[in-house]
Amino acid sequence: MTSDVQATQDGALAQAQAAYDAIRRRGLKLNMQRGQPADADFDLSNGLLSALGPGDTHLDGLDLRNYPGGVTGLPSARALFGQYLDLKPENMVVWNNASLELQGYVLTFALLHGRGGAPWTGPRPKMIVTVPGYDRHFLLLQTLGFELLPVAMQPDGPDVDAIEALAAADPAVKGVLFVPTYSNPGGETISAEKARRLAGLQAAAPDFTILADDAYRVHHLSPSPAEQDTPVNFVALCRDAGHPDRAFVFASTSKITFAGAGLGFVGTSEDNVRWLSRYLNAQSIGPNKLEQARHVTFLQGYPGGLEGLMAAHAALIAPKFRAVDEVLREELGEGGAYATWTRPRGGYFIGLDTAEPVADRVVALAEAAGVSLTPAGATYPGGQDPHNRNIRLAPTRPPVEEVYEAMRAVAACVRLATEEYRRR
Ligand code: PMP
Repeated sequence: MTSDVQATQDGALAQAQAAYDAIRRRGLKLNMQRGQPADADFDLSNGLLSALGPGDTHLDGLDLRNYPGGVTGLPSARALFGQYLDLKPENMVVWNNASLELQGYVLTFALLHGRGGAPWTGPRPKMIVTVPGYDRHFLLLQTLGFELLPVAMQPDGPDVDAIEALAAADPAVKGVLFVPTYSNPGGETISAEKARRLAGLQAAAPDFTILADDAYRVHHLSPSPAEQDTPVNFVALCRDAGHPDRAFVFASTSKITFAGAGLGFVGTSEDNVRWLSRYLNAQSIGPNKLEQARHVTFLQGYPGGLEGLMAAHAALIAPKFRAVDEVLREELGEGGAYATWTRPRGGYFIGLDTAEPVADRVVALAEAAGVSLTPAGATYPGGQDPHNRNIRLAPTRPPVEEVYEAMRAVAACVRLATEEYRRR
């Protein structure tokens, strides 16, 4: 290395260190780790708390205070959330407060009872997942004993070439679990073309299953359709492709009304609704109908309905996404010298990839400067990012001024970690 180049690099490192030290001295206490709504988002739904009055004891001809009603959910909740997934009420099971729980049920019942064929516990079952991805999907699958087969999440959805090859090669590959719209963490949405290929793919397992966790299906950042991604309908696509029972599509109101205090639901074929109901019925007389009635009453009464509520969320969340992009562009440039990042049109997260393998160092530097980030590696199975580059940014919870501040600190950490690495 010539002494000129070395001097420039030394200067860049010293500058990055000084910038970082200045931020560290400020004693920040900021959190960009949690994919949670802000209090202002929750406040939009406070009407839920009084949506039912003392006289609201019945809906759909059912006494909400008593058992009868079955396990598929209140008819008006099946209709409302069916519309949400672009499905008929008959295709819906509306359950209790968490879509992850429903995902766990479907997987557990498939393991114990099979899906029309042998139970999935024969040879160790395998499930395809997308990376970077959602750590709770990995945790759920690994806790149930699945071997995970990671494939890349690309800008237009999962790497379908890789999924086709894996599914064709091995009957122990039972399916794929991923987020089809505004994915966690990169915000990618599957294209119509890729969705069609997944719906029709030739799998060695006759019960190959698409588990689509559509947690962010309507979570656009803009109310203008021209600036929104278009969600797909896997239940219809699989039916049209001759695999009517292939898809389960999950979602919930966790990022619509209250997180963990709303409704999880699943859309699938009518045969699958019967399959799921048989096992749900063995362990519950039915879900909480009062909560379902409360959500239906509140959402139907919201100005503009569910769309109106989502537009109000977008007005709160979009400036935070803009803040992340703005600061990163200003501080790190757009050429990718330090990092690249996604620019989603919806969802809850932005995926940042460092140019050098320094994600763990960036997260540690940020922590030391008082900015809490999702742990490096969390977006890969086992918490191990083989490239050590991916960091999930979650800007929804803090107020927008804090997002600006936190991102300036993150950018300084990326610069310092990169310069350190290049000096090694
Ligand atoms: N799926 C995805 C992709 C998520 O990001 C989240 C929340 N972080 C969940 C599911 C959790 O949903 P629920 O509260 O309905 O279990």
